[in-house]
Amino acid sequence: MSDIGKLLVVVGPSGVGKGTVISQALEQDPTIWLSVSGTGREPRPGEVNGTDYVFVSRDEFSEMTQSGALLEWAEYAGNPYGTPRQPVQERLSAGQSVILEIDIAGARQVKANLPEAVLIFLAPPNVAELERRLRGRGTETEESVQRRLAIAQTELAAEPECDLVIVNDDVQVAAAQLIELAHR
Ligand code: 5GP
Repeated sequence: MSDIGKLLVVVGPSGVGKGTVISQALEQDPTIWLSVSGTGREPRPGEVNGTDYVFVSRDEFSEMTQSGALLEWAEYAGNPYGTPRQPVQERLSAGQSVILEIDIAGARQVKANLPEAVLIFLAPPNVAELERRLRGRGTETEESVQRRLAIAQTELAAEPECDLVIVNDDVQVAAAQLIELAHR
């Protein structure tokens, strides 16, 4: 392992399968650490506080932004999300590779602060497949699906800003590519 871990920032439209690819990669390579974001949105059924997200109130979230506790933060579909700075820095200093699963606005902030971060765009095989996956999750209202589809259009346009593209045609292949990048 190198002295300082790799910081991999995985972006891509909602529904592209970031969560699935990342959990597959972590299962195969437990040396990689996935940052747990803070959010002001309500937990979905089955989500666990401290594992999926740290769920906080709006007031607690603004306290985190003001105290500098976040490496980056952004509003997404009306809710705030952010990456706690300290755990990321600790893991990287210990030589561990770290994955951030965040939106493109947050990824830009990370790249501006830490140019050595690698921005990875996880692309859908095509847009129809993306909509199918987004609806297939079945946890979103129609309004939320429409909102997320609109955001997905702008997120697809972010591909050229990223350092690398992984197409999520096959979860196993995409996960293997992510693991390879963590150790490159
Ligand atoms: P969801 O509500 O579906 O869990 O997440 C919505 C979006 O928020 C996802 O596209 C995800 O990438 C983004 N997101 C999650 N955590 C963070 C974070 O810490 N910072 C930023 N900027 N975006 C995040």
